Amino acid sequence: MQRCGYGILTTLLLHHAAFLDHLTPVGHPERPDRLRALHAALDHEDFATLQRVEAPLAGVESAMLCHSEAYVEAIRRAVPNEGLARIDMDTTVSPGSWEAAMRAIGAALYAVDAVISGRATNAFCAVRPPGHHAETMRAMGFCLFDTAAIAARHAQKAHGVERVAIVDWDVHHGNGTQEIFWSDPSVLYASTHQMPLFPGTGAPSETGVGNIVNAPLSPGDGTDDFKEAMRARILPAVRAFSPDLILISAGFDAHTRDPLAEINLQAEDFAWATAELMDIADRSANARVVSLLEGGYDLKGLAASAAAHIRQLMNA
Ligand SMILES: [Zn+2]
Repeated sequence: MQRCGYGILTTLLLHHAAFLDHLTPVGHPERPDRLRALHAALDHEDFATLQRVEAPLAGVESAMLCHSEAYVEAIRRAVPNEGLARIDMDTTVSPGSWEAAMRAIGAALYAVDAVISGRATNAFCAVRPPGHHAETMRAMGFCLFDTAAIAARHAQKAHGVERVAIVDWDVHHGNGTQEIFWSDPSVLYASTHQMPLFPGTGAPSETGVGNIVNAPLSPGDGTDDFKEAMRARILPAVRAFSPDLILISAGFDAHTRDPLAEINLQAEDFAWATAELMDIADRSANARVVSLLEGGYDLKGLAASAAAHIRQLMNA
């Protein structure tokens, strides 16, 4: 199958040193070492053909695709000149946080532009801070701006893409993405996550205007339960939606080693889910998949899972 204009199958890796400068308190699970571990795993011949691109800086107006101007300005003002400033119990900002957040958005927009123009088949954005808990007017759960949601809106506004599916397999429910698209039938939000767990949303009864699909897992669930949730709920919904673009909120905190949850996935389970979504993208979305790092707090589990996911993306 011809998947892009030049017939070249390319996977992009969006990265930037600025993502290491978003600092959190000592002992906080969402820490710069996460990206160091991920990049160490990608320093392997398997990933030699990844096209590595430094994430550009997005303009502030990009954040306003999904957040109010007042909120965006409040976050900018909250960033301290030194030390750390607390936004809520879990969410802090440091002097480097603004640039990191704006480059996370810039990575997502660059990736969307590249896969829609056919310069790349798919992309992984190795970014922090994560995004899927950030609501229109509220930061929470380590997240400042909802990068995946902004990517979806950008695809629609800049490229005329009609239907975007966001699949979220982070072990926490993406309350922010759900809130942003709650009444928007042009975006499908499909999530599998542990319940009960932070942030408390994500019940199957939360369906928006028929565009929200929640398939919660129970503490202790593993590979078979995850695959069943994907096969029974998530994948049929994405297939039926016939998206023009698939975004993945790729958190790897459902890995069995992760300290923040009790789901027992293995790295290869993320490769399996990736392949399933790539298959749908091949049929309806000209293979276009953009994946964004969300959570994943055990360094070994994160590195192995992200590597398995990216290896599958490269196997288009
Ligand atoms: Zn998470």
